[in-house]
Amino acid sequence: MTKVAIIGAGPCGLSMLRAFEHLEKKGEKIPEIVCFDKQEDWGGLWNYSWRTGSDQYEKFYKII
Ligand SMILES: Cc1cc2nc3c(=O)[nH]c(=O)nc-3n(C[C@H](O)[C@H](O)[C@H](O)COP(=O)(O)OP(=O)(O)OC[C@H]3O[C@@H](n4cnc5c(N)ncnc54)[C@H](O)[C@@H]3O)c2cc1C
Repeated sequence: MTKVAIIGAGPCGLSMLRAFEHLEKKGEKIPEIVCFDKQEDWGGLWNYSWRTGSDQYEKFYKII
């Protein structure tokens, strides 16, 4: 069986997972998929935590 590794569970990785799920629900045969992320939680830049805004993008978060 084909195996697929998705690196990163940000919006792009999650949309890949969603696309495969959609195909599977339509009855398509999908590969074995594992999604890896170096952070503790999924969401990528949208993963809001105490670290959010503690980088060079700080000023952007302050106006959100
Ligand atoms: C301040 C700010 C405000 C924004 N506001 C908006 C907005 O209002 N609307 C909008 O549409 N977009 C906005 N964006 C842009 C949006 O956040 C990005 O376009 C989107 O997050 C990109 O998704 P991505 O999955 O490509 O990358 P990311 O969200 O960066 O996700 C990548 C993931 O991969 C993981 N990763 C990276 N390297 C590795 C590795 N070696 N091994 C394992 N995991 C790894 C990371 O931990 C992360 O979870 C904003 C961005 C910023 C910085």
